[in-house]
Amino acid sequence: MRETTAGLRSSGFFRFIDPKVFLGENALKGQKLLAQGNTLGMKAIINAPCKGKSLKETKEKDKYMIDSSAFQGKKAAYYTLGCKLNFSETSTFGKMLEDMGVITAKRGEKADICLINTCSVTEVADHKCRQAIHRMVRNNPGAFVIVTGCYAQLESENVSKIEGVDLVLGANEKAHLIQYLSNAWAQKFAQENGLAAQTPQNGDAESSQNGDAASLHQHYSVKTKEIKTFQPSCSRGNRTRYFLKVQDGCNYYCTYCTIPFARGNSRNPSIQSLVAQCEQAAAEGGKEIVITGVNIGDFGQTTHERFIDLVKAMDQVEGIKRYRISSLEPDLCDDDLIEYCAQSRAFMPHFHIPLQSGSDEVLKLMHRRYDKALFAHKVNLIKEKMPDAFIGVDVMVGCRGETPECFEECYEFLKSLPVTQLHVFPYSERPGTAALKIPYVVDEKEKKKRSKRLLELSDQKTQEFYAQYIGTEAEVLFEKAPRGKAMHGFTKNYIRVELSPALAKEEYDNQLIKVRLGDFNHDKTALKAELEVKGS
Ligand code: SF4
Repeated sequence: MRETTAGLRSSGFFRFIDPKVFLGENALKGQKLLAQGNTLGMKAIINAPCKGKSLKETKEKDKYMIDSSAFQGKKAAYYTLGCKLNFSETSTFGKMLEDMGVITAKRGEKADICLINTCSVTEVADHKCRQAIHRMVRNNPGAFVIVTGCYAQLESENVSKIEGVDLVLGANEKAHLIQYLSNAWAQKFAQENGLAAQTPQNGDAESSQNGDAASLHQHYSVKTKEIKTFQPSCSRGNRTRYFLKVQDGCNYYCTYCTIPFARGNSRNPSIQSLVAQCEQAAAEGGKEIVITGVNIGDFGQTTHERFIDLVKAMDQVEGIKRYRISSLEPDLCDDDLIEYCAQSRAFMPHFHIPLQSGSDEVLKLMHRRYDKALFAHKVNLIKEKMPDAFIGVDVMVGCRGETPECFEECYEFLKSLPVTQLHVFPYSERPGTAALKIPYVVDEKEKKKRSKRLLELSDQKTQEFYAQYIGTEAEVLFEKAPRGKAMHGFTKNYIRVELSPALAKEEYDNQLIKVRLGDFNHDKTALKAELEVKGS
């Protein structure tokens, strides 16, 4: 730590805050905004003075709930593992810290604060999380290390024991990241300087402090059923597209999945607050929003609103030219919704539907809520209403109970369907899941063989889909690229397009440009934009 003790004392730094009781009137307003999905709420909390007075009125920093002065000019590094939702949340954590005066560390720069947002979808993901934590600790000696995300929720105590880790926040606590950080930061300073630190009051969160003198090793996580908070996230990051989180958690409890344990039950903010976030994105120049969540189609568990009404309301937001729905469970991808998207202003002909298995027997073992017939109906309806639609499909291979016959059935089913791309995930055993009770186990070698076959099928289908559009005109939303490099972007129906360095222009970033689609690029991952037609 770099501050002098006297400096910190005079700024009231050593006041420890109970996240459950510390909120003043303005901060409570901020909490309300946050609960509605409005990230401005965090700003309100950070800047909220005690007794409802403004900064100008009080001028007494030590009356503030969170004293951000200790964070001014500090540098933070972030590392995210897992899904789009995690990336979106990390970006929000970044914004929260930025509001506290923290700067994002440049590549190679040492950080004062490290935040690792973890994933626990497979055993491999867990391993990668541990590696990422060790790497962050090693590369940033003395930094304050925070770990959050799914792995942090499921293995809270174990993660807290890793050398160098100061603070582990579970799914419920991450929404109060700033409060926890502020508390723990002060304690760490006190610990390093041999000062008496007050123990924080953590309500019903489980917490502990152990281990070496250098790190706090605190962990806070509540039980799954007590996960109630919603961390709003609408991030742009370095990308052109915005990722708007509309829902969190899942009530489905598929037998192989740990996500409901890691993220809690399904919950969502209001349509009104989400539309406000879309309007904000449009005001910032955003043109495309990807709707994210854990089980998006289950939207409405908290507010009793319907997902289709959210879609209709978002479609009205001026300035947003494109929406994509990141994933929809087949049983929640209503026919009405498909029909609405087909005639909507801005919802793209692009769907992502997890199938997981093309065998009814395996679907039953997985406790999935549909059968092959329902899945085929959804795919065919999408193609009937939107013949150009890109359909991505998640498939899990080698799960327990997937006999060679079941796999062949799945392969043939997928081959017969007009889907565009397969996202293939080899099954991974997860502690505590019901799938472990299924006796039939597929060995790793066989899993690899099955994955390879499905990936080949996927390449074939994607290339056939792309090939249909060679020679046609399309509107592409281009993304920023380093100078002198090719630019990439996507058509409405999610064909990846490459603009050669000779044609690429900086001003095309985040612009919808009409191009003629040419042949495949060198590795067949995109179509080359042959001819620039006209900007729009
Ligand atoms: S729907 Fe099933 S697979 Fe998806 S998050 Fe929920 S429990 Fe997991």
